[in-house]
Parts: sequence; structure tokens; C-alpha cells
Amino acid sequence: MNILLLYPKIPDTFWSFKHALKFIRKRAGSPPLGLLTVAALLPDHWNKRLVDFNVSTLGPDDMSWADYAFISGMDLQREPTHRLIEQCHQNNLPVVGGGPLFSCAPDKFPEVDHLVLGEAEITLPGFLSDLQAGTPKNRYETAQHPDLQLSPTPDWSLLNMDRYATMSVQYSRGCPYHCEFCNVTTLFGHAPRTKPSAQMIAELNALYSQGWRDQIFFVDDNFIGHRKHLKNDLLPALIHWRETHPEISFLTETSINLADDPELMTMLSQAGFQSVFIGIETPEEACLHEASKSQNQNRDMVADVKRIHQNGIQVQGGFIVGFDNDPPSIFERQIQFIQQSGIVVAMVGLLQAPSGTKLYERLQEAGRLLGFMSGDNVDGSTNILPKMGLDTLKTGYRHILENIYSPKQYYQRLKTFLKDYKPGKVNTSVSREEIFALFRSIFQLGIVGKERLYYWKLFFWTLFRKPKLFPLAITLSIYGYHFRKVCELHVF
Ligand code: SF4
Repeated sequence: MNILLLYPKIPDTFWSFKHALKFIRKRAGSPPLGLLTVAALLPDHWNKRLVDFNVSTLGPDDMSWADYAFISGMDLQREPTHRLIEQCHQNNLPVVGGGPLFSCAPDKFPEVDHLVLGEAEITLPGFLSDLQAGTPKNRYETAQHPDLQLSPTPDWSLLNMDRYATMSVQYSRGCPYHCEFCNVTTLFGHAPRTKPSAQMIAELNALYSQGWRDQIFFVDDNFIGHRKHLKNDLLPALIHWRETHPEISFLTETSINLADDPELMTMLSQAGFQSVFIGIETPEEACLHEASKSQNQNRDMVADVKRIHQNGIQVQGGFIVGFDNDPPSIFERQIQFIQQSGIVVAMVGLLQAPSGTKLYERLQEAGRLLGFMSGDNVDGSTNILPKMGLDTLKTGYRHILENIYSPKQYYQRLKTFLKDYKPGKVNTSVSREEIFALFRSIFQLGIVGKERLYYWKLFFWTLFRKPKLFPLAITLSIYGYHFRKVCELHVF
């Protein structure tokens, strides 16, 4: 059997980091981990090819070679996915769809030949045995969640790793929290399930033996959802592993209450975690209450962020406007929070309602839904009718972006962060990509860019005052260029 694994193109968004990736000669942030895991679940003797449209294109015989196309994607890839399914069918290639996009709204894909929904470790074996018996059904689904020990090491051999900025692994699925707008718990449940450390170390060793020597992204939606396992099992093993693999560093996603646990922050930093993405959402208590974001309530989140920075971990933050309880001052309050906290990578988006969430149900009942969301919550689009009115929301949103990504504000925030940030051991080796990025940043940001004055001020300030953080300062300057570019091309 010949299987073509297809990952549709992700649009140019804040999340794609497309304009920053050019500086390090990479084409995409991270590879399609779900498809690589599915590839490892397929029989060994089947032939597999992967085409990730974010880094490559179809070869001339790919479609005629294949017996089945397996397509996976997220909401963000809805449109290119529909086009790809059509292209497969024009080439008489049956399509198997799986992953979050299909699992959250399977009825929106009547054209797909076989829908393998939910977590593939449970549903894929049923499809494979029916396929071998010649009786594959249209839909395979389950309400259960598998033990992650059933999840194999992803098939890294299908990748051209050179084209990606990071590799991805997954330690846990599920999140104990109940945020109203989030579909993670719809997909993976509330009880965090984890892999044993031996399994994770085997995955990291597999990546290392394929030649990977750079950052690795733990794509868990809340990496600290199961603290006991993390502290007693995975982190001690990672700290030990990294003693012999110091060139590898990690990033992940956590909740803000990481700031309450000094031991956990120290362990994460020792294990090589350099940054965490945290859903801050809003400084407005009433909105946190509205969204059932209990873990963010009744706390000083600016102080929390600074504490995490002081423990050597950079916070990247997600922010949302468009809640029912947003006061007219919300746009200014978000700007103030972002500037004071020193969160350089601040992703601000409009509230959207993914299908399957409590928010979706609530707004549907209230007649306030506008169809499907784009999946990119920072593209200025939304599928909800906000209480403040769409025009007010969009105007306020543009005001936030114009402000926080303007060179003056962006570099000011970057300096606030660099002053607070106290990294542990800094890896001082510099890669060829980093040298290339430095020279390109000098040209793009320091010579032709509108931000050149701010760039050079930060360049010399960091060089003399925080020399160990110089590569990080350049990387974050380049991110700023990306954010401004996306705003110019797609938002303003
Ligand atoms: S903490 Fe994050 S992953 Fe968990 S439910 Fe809330 S938004 Fe979703």
C-alpha cells in the first residue's frame, strides 16, 4: 500500500513566523507531528511519503503513486484543506481525514471518503483492519482517550529537518481547566495523560540520532497540567539527558500558575526550557470570570510574568479582546499590561468560538454566531457578534496592534524584558544560521528598516550591558519585523 501524507499550507499569520524564518533560511516553524505519529501507526511494510505544503510541493507522480491520501490539519487550514481534497479526487485518490479540523466538525467534510476522528491511537487500528478486509467505513470515532504509552515515536525519517526551525514532541494531552473558548478539552479531555520519561527520552534520542541539534517544542496544550509526574519523572530525566545534549533547548505552553511554583520554574530552566507560551487573555477580572479562566483570576499577572522571566524562562503571551464584559477601556488596558509585563511576543486576537466549545453553544443559542471561525485568532476576523459591536472591536484591535508592534513600543518592551530576564546557563555556541540572521538583520532592520534607530540603540545597549543576551535580542528584533510585516500585509 502506498500512502501519501499531506499537510496543507498554513496562511501567513503571526503564528507562522514566515517573515522571521527567512532570516534563518527556514521554511516553517515546526513539522506536522500528528501526521508523523499516524505514519508510525501504519504497517511497517507500507510505503509512505510526506508532503508538508509549508516546506515543499507535490512531486509529479505523488498522486498517481499513492493508493490513499491521509490529510490532517487545524481550523487555520480549512480552505487549503478543501482545495486539497478536491485535487486528490480529481486524481482519483481516496482521502482519509483526521486531526483537529476534521474531528471538531466532521459534518463539514461530506466529501471525505474516510473520517478517522479523535485520537488516532484508538480509531486508526479499526480503519486499518477494515481496509485490509476490503470493507472500510466512512467514519471512525470514539469518545475515549488512549493511554499515551500506545503512541509510537513519530516517524522522523519522512522529514527534511533542515527546512524547519524547531522539531516537535508531545508529552501530555488533556487539560484540567475549563476555559469557555478552548477546544483542547473537547478533543483531549480534562484528565491530563502523560508519557513515561523513558518513552520521551526515546523520542528525543530518535530526533537526536536523525541529526537534530536545535530547539524542540513540547506541543502540549498545558505542559504543567500533571505536575506530580512532571516533577518526579520527566523533568529529572530531562535534566539528566541535557547534560550530554547541551545544544538542545525546549519551549512549551503552560498556565500562568507556573509562577506560583519556584521549584517547578527552577527545574524547567535547568532542563533547558527557554520560553513558555501562556494564555494571559485579559487583565479584566470580569472577562476572566466570563471565560471560566479560573487559573488567571485574582492575581497580579504582571508580577507573575516578571517572576517567570527572573527564573530564566521567557513568557510569550496570548491576549483576547471581544469578551462580553470588555469595558471601553479594554484596548488601552491590554496595551498597558503588555508593555509593563515585558512580554515581547504578544499575540493579541479577537475572541472566536471554535465548534465543540461551551462558548460556541452559548453564542449559538443567543443567535450571535457568524459561521465558522478562521482558526487564526490574530487575523482580525471573528465568528461571533461581540456585545460592543464589530466595528468598535475591530477599530480597538487595530489600535492595539498599531501600538504594541510599533518600533518604539516594541523595542521598549524588549528592553524591559532583557532587564528582567535572568537566564541560567546560556549556550554560547553560535550557529551559521544565527550569523546569517545577524547580518540580514543589520541590513533589513538596521539599514533599510523604519525601526533602524531603535534597532541600533538596542544593539549596542545589549552588546555592552547584556552581552550574553545579544543573540536573543537579535532574534526578538527579527520577530518584531515579522509582526509588523503581517500587520502591514493582512491587518491594516
Ligand atoms: S488552560 Fe489553555 S489548554 Fe487548558 S482549557 Fe484553558 S485555554 Fe485550553
